[in-house]
Amino acid sequence: MSESDGDADGDGNGAEAWTLPDDLEAVREALIAWYEADHRDYPWRRTDDPYEILVSEVMSQQTQLDRVVDAWEAFLERWPTTADLAATDRADVVGFWTGHSLGYNNRAKYLHEAAQQVEEEYAGEFPSTPGELQELMGVGPYTANAVASFAFNNGDAVVDTNVKRVCYRAFDVPDDDTAFKAAANDLMPDDRSRVWNNAIMELGGVACTQTPRCDEVGCPWREWCGAYASGDFTAPDVPTQPGFEGSRRQFRGRVIGTLREYDELELDTLGHRIRVDYVPDGEYGREWLEGLLADLEDDGLVDLEGSDGTLIARLKR
Ligand code: SF4
Repeated sequence: MSESDGDADGDGNGAEAWTLPDDLEAVREALIAWYEADHRDYPWRRTDDPYEILVSEVMSQQTQLDRVVDAWEAFLERWPTTADLAATDRADVVGFWTGHSLGYNNRAKYLHEAAQQVEEEYAGEFPSTPGELQELMGVGPYTANAVASFAFNNGDAVVDTNVKRVCYRAFDVPDDDTAFKAAANDLMPDDRSRVWNNAIMELGGVACTQTPRCDEVGCPWREWCGAYASGDFTAPDVPTQPGFEGSRRQFRGRVIGTLREYDELELDTLGHRIRVDYVPDGEYGREWLEGLLADLEDDGLVDLEGSDGTLIARLKR
C-alpha cells in the first residue's frame, strides 16, 4: 500500500485510515485508457468552450443526460455565445426552459445573469479557476469545478455520488466527505482534471453503478478493487439491494450471465456476485440461492456439485 494513506477525520491519528494501491500510476492509466477506448458520446464532451459546458452542467442538474442533448443543442443554436444570451430578454430564456421541461426556472434566470456577468465583468472571457467561476450567478462549487476541469483542464477532483461509490467500493474509503475528497484528489493525476473527471464519472455512471457491472463492461479497476475481491458491493447510496426490482427471473439471468464469465463458482461467491445484499444466512442468502439454483438445475441449465455450504455451480455443458 502507498504513501497515499488517508486520515478521514484529519486529526492525524489515522483512525479510519484508507489506502490506495502502491501502483497508483497503473491505476490511473488503466482508467484513462478504458475511458478513451469507449465512452458515452455527449456533445459537450467534444468541446472545451466554457459557455457550452456551463449550459450542459446547468441543464443536467435536473434532467437526465440523454434528454439534455436536444435542449442543449437547441439552446446553443438560439444563443451561441454569452453575448447573445446576455442580450436577450430573460422571459425568452425562461420560456425556452419551460418549453424543454428543464426543471426549475430559476436556473434559466441564473444562466442569463451569469452570461451578463461574463460580458460586463469579465469582458466576455470566462474566468478559469473554480474560485472565480463560483462568483458567477447560480454557479456552486460542483459546477464551478466541472467547468474549470472540462473547459480549462484546471479543476480539482470531482466528488459526486458516483465518485464516492467508486472510491468506497474500490479502495475502502470510509463514508466521510473529507475522506472522499482527499482520496479523489490523491487518485487524480496532476494537470489532467479534464480527462480524469470525465473518466471517473463515466466509471461510476456505467460500470460501478448501484448494481455494479464489473465484468460486463470490463471495469479497469477489477484487479485493485476491494469490493470485487470480497463480493460486498454495498456503498453509501446502496445500503442493500439497489433500485431495480429483483424479480426471480432477473436473478436467474444474472446467475447464468455470471456463470458464463467463470468456469464455476462456489455458492457464496456466486451470491455476492449477483446481489449486493447477499448475506449467507440472511433473507437473500444460501437458502434463497440454493432454491434458485435448484430450479435452474431442473430446467437443465446449471450443474450443481457438493452439499450444503460447499455447493459449486457451473453452466450445464
Ligand atoms: S470492479 Fe466493480 S465494484 Fe470495483 S470499481 Fe469496478 S465496477 Fe466498481
